[in-house]
Amino acid sequence: SYEKWEINPSDLTFMKEVGSGQAGVVRLGMWRAQHKVAIKAIKQGAMFEEDFIEEAKVMMKLSHPKLVQLYGVCSQQRPIYIVTEFMEHGCLLDFLRSRRGCMGAASLLSVCLDVCEGMQYLESSSFIHRDLGARNCLVNDALVVKVSDFGMARYILDDQYTSSLGSKFPVKWSPPEVFNFCKYSSKSDIWSYGVLMWEAFTEGRMPFEHSDNHEVVTLVTEGHRLYRPKLATEAIYDIMQMCWQERPEDRPSFSQLCLMISDVLEGDG
Ligand code: ADP
Repeated sequence: SYEKWEINPSDLTFMKEVGSGQAGVVRLGMWRAQHKVAIKAIKQGAMFEEDFIEEAKVMMKLSHPKLVQLYGVCSQQRPIYIVTEFMEHGCLLDFLRSRRGCMGAASLLSVCLDVCEGMQYLESSSFIHRDLGARNCLVNDALVVKVSDFGMARYILDDQYTSSLGSKFPVKWSPPEVFNFCKYSSKSDIWSYGVLMWEAFTEGRMPFEHSDNHEVVTLVTEGHRLYRPKLATEAIYDIMQMCWQERPEDRPSFSQLCLMISDVLEGDG
């Protein structure tokens, strides 16, 4: 018999490979020959598997139209599988890059609003994402953008990724309290969200393109911030800058951000 978060691997059919990342290969599959799912096979030694399986029970309870749903895990085998909602258009960063010049300011802002709604739900559930960026959002066939990989950073076994001094640490998405003291909170997610807005409005550029992580720490500490993207109006850039306030308590909440972004979208911001 299976626990309710446990998926029977014989209920899965594997179809094409759709990508690969830090932790393993992702495939399109079917669950009970009916439902499209994404199946991630976790590379041996890439993850604190025991801890993740325990946390998966919590993550499965998180459910929102702007979050990529975790359906369950196959944890009685190696490699373990993580089974989630399938997102036809793949990762948001690639999506933005492939549509350069095609998306107007309104659709970029609606991308931002989708992510903000997913993050508002995480914030209200007191769940910290820890690695928000366009690379960790996915786009479905209806062009809805959803937040993915929430909380997963804690289970990656790779010093280069988890240490704030490591080459893969997302310094360019991190506020000072994170790159200095690893102090994560919904307010550190807010900072990352501001960088994600910047990624959207630059159609997928690399933040601080000409600086390495070490230089970014110095720049941000000195008070430098990302420039205003050409597609972002002053009202939109103002919202980004609120996210990059040095003191966490001076940054808005996701519920406040959702209201501000909706106002701009409706044209009275
Ligand atoms: P990383 O470890 O770098 O965060 P992932 O392993 O999460 O990357 O995903 C790697 C790639 O697989 C993504 O860039 C995306 O193209 C694809 N992918 C991941 N999850 C899904 C999904 N749920 N639906 C469709 N494609 C996905």
